[in-house]
Amino acid sequence: MKSRRNFLKALPALGALPFLSFKGLERKPTATKKRYQKGLVLSTWNFGLKANEAGAESFQKGGKAVDMVEAAGRRMEDDLSELSIGLGGFPDRDGHTTLDACIMDHHGKAGSVCFLEQIKHPVSVARAIMEKTPHVVLVGEGAQQFALKNGFELDTYKNPEAVKAWKEWLVKSEYKPVINIENHDTIGILAMDAQGDMSGACTTSGLAFKMRGRVGDSPIIGSGLYVDNEVGAATATGLGETILRSCSSFLIVELMRQGMSPQAACEEAIQRLVKINTPGILKVEDYQACFLACNAAGEVGAYSVHPGFTYAIWKEGKAEVIPSKSMLG
Ligand code: ASP
Repeated sequence: MKSRRNFLKALPALGALPFLSFKGLERKPTATKKRYQKGLVLSTWNFGLKANEAGAESFQKGGKAVDMVEAAGRRMEDDLSELSIGLGGFPDRDGHTTLDACIMDHHGKAGSVCFLEQIKHPVSVARAIMEKTPHVVLVGEGAQQFALKNGFELDTYKNPEAVKAWKEWLVKSEYKPVINIENHDTIGILAMDAQGDMSGACTTSGLAFKMRGRVGDSPIIGSGLYVDNEVGAATATGLGETILRSCSSFLIVELMRQGMSPQAACEEAIQRLVKINTPGILKVEDYQACFLACNAAGEVGAYSVHPGFTYAIWKEGKAEVIPSKSMLG
């Protein structure tokens, strides 16, 4: 104990010694390939096509990547018929729709909002947190107060379809977080602008009929989203708890930093996630997790646990939906 204290006291003086140079933590210049600068928008699931359109419009107007991802997120939040994003989303088990979102720009700045109620555009609230406060995350009532003070309006909209589904769920009230394996959920968005800079965003109403206060991976920097302009960006969708346990988006970016392609990094991160979450925590049959990534050269990768995951891509004016490869089948 004593010798440890002495060692800690001596630390400042040791700063210059070579054995404390943290060699392994140095940032390696990975961007050996040319940066992609022709405009790229990627979004999770088929409905990403609609989000990408908004991202592409922003690009064509000269928007930066952060404007592109915000525009894409807002387009989804505007659609109140969506059952997994924005105010139209399924409520929690007490009947309240609570929203999570985050955003990261090419400087590595980040903003996140969790457990936000009655505000239509959580992705823009996340951006305002990033740009107007010294913080990264605001939650619940405080986040709502911040939004109201910053020009967002209270919106009490409830989607009749979501309310009906909740009432049907209440009959049994069986609390079992299930995730759509082949259906759309959270939107995760990655974009590159004309300078080749990249940003990302995520927006969701989270799991249907979740416990009140539950927050998934989507607004958590490093889990649902991570962007390092030097290397690449990654986003996730699926059962948030599995992704939170494995800090997947950060992992994918770090694997790309070490030289992996976006595809190889997504595959490795899925293997890691399954290893961490199974067995003992969950059965692999019972959850889906999906990743989407790109690197600074504009190369794209995607991978999921189960088949069914798709992503939308807008690149050089061409829009399409691509089925992701998966670990099981
Ligand atoms: N990842 C989201 C969450 O756990 C849900 C999803 O992507 O389907 O809240």
